[in-house]
Amino acid sequence: MAKEDYYDLLGISRDASGDELKKAYRKLAVKYHPDKNQGDKEAEEMFKKISEAYDVLKDPDKRAAYDRYGHSAFEGGMGGMGGAQVDPFDIFREVFGGSGSIFDELFGGASSRGGSRASSGSDLRYDLEISLEEAAKGVEKEIRYRRLVVCPDCGGSGASPGSSVMTCPDCGGSGYVTSQRGFMTFRQVCPRCGGSGKTIEKPCPTCGGEGRTMETNRLKLRIPAGVDTGSRLRSQGKGEAGVHGGPPGDLYVIIHVEEHDVFERSGDSLFCEIPIKFTVATLGGTIDVPTLFGKGSLKIPAGTQSGTVFRMRGQGMPNLRSQARGDQLIRVVIEVPKKLSGDQREKLKDFAEACGDESNPVAESFFEKAKRFFE
Ligand SMILES: [Zn+2]
Ligand SMILES: [Zn+2]
Repeated sequence: MAKEDYYDLLGISRDASGDELKKAYRKLAVKYHPDKNQGDKEAEEMFKKISEAYDVLKDPDKRAAYDRYGHSAFEGGMGGMGGAQVDPFDIFREVFGGSGSIFDELFGGASSRGGSRASSGSDLRYDLEISLEEAAKGVEKEIRYRRLVVCPDCGGSGASPGSSVMTCPDCGGSGYVTSQRGFMTFRQVCPRCGGSGKTIEKPCPTCGGEGRTMETNRLKLRIPAGVDTGSRLRSQGKGEAGVHGGPPGDLYVIIHVEEHDVFERSGDSLFCEIPIKFTVATLGGTIDVPTLFGKGSLKIPAGTQSGTVFRMRGQGMPNLRSQARGDQLIRVVIEVPKKLSGDQREKLKDFAEACGDESNPVAESFFEKAKRFFE
């Protein structure tokens, strides 16, 4: 079977630049990587072929030889360019960095340089409940949570104090071992050392060789005014310690604002319902109203109907970003007295008589509309 042309394999022209070559290889390498095509022999074969093609064309001398002599430049020692037997994973690693596993490339996994598999610590989540008053004014809270920290006894190396860290005998320090599957050579992270390339003579008794231990961490948090349920505060580096010197993760504090018995919140607005006497509604007056920032007062104009909503500007929740305060909306509900003294009843009767058939404006328009029901 004739070998396919290297340029055709990579889908580039014969005068493609180094950048174009690399780009073409990257695209195809991701497409045919065995990690993504488990058990697919054809993809495996393609992965091998494009790796070989790229390996030859990226080298100016080899490319020149290939351009002049074709595949025969690399056969049977002719041309003295050496065999084209390359490890496709070596090439993949060289181009993409990482461990040669596609998952490192696609999912941003452990960054791996020189065999040391440092990886960042996990992020942590903490759910914090606060009151509406605290959300309105901002608050400082101390929280306690468990997290993995760098082991204080071994400094994260995992080795018992006084003992040494040795080169892993299974992988010779590279962090990878190879295994043969069919005609493909697979590279995988060394199971003995987990890719670090090092093993521990005597594991640290505190952390069992893991390099991290559990600790209860106390943290003072400044909760800004205006937070709402679902607000997420990030404390950089307060998550779990990294592995083998990797950076620590972050702590995310998720805010939950408790329900309030007087106020209902919607964004930066606060709502509340206040009962008022029917005399105040009729004659007008001033009432005391609760606000999150203390006692306030509200003028009720004469002739206020039940259900009227009044707006108190700037008495709502502060905006988390601008800190400008929203409004408080007050819905008044007119309360009808249930018990009347004899004197009160008499006076009210006199009042009713004085009113006669004279009606109220709301009732008038209502009875006008509902007229046909009474005919
Ligand atoms: Zn330790
Ligand atoms: Zn190893």
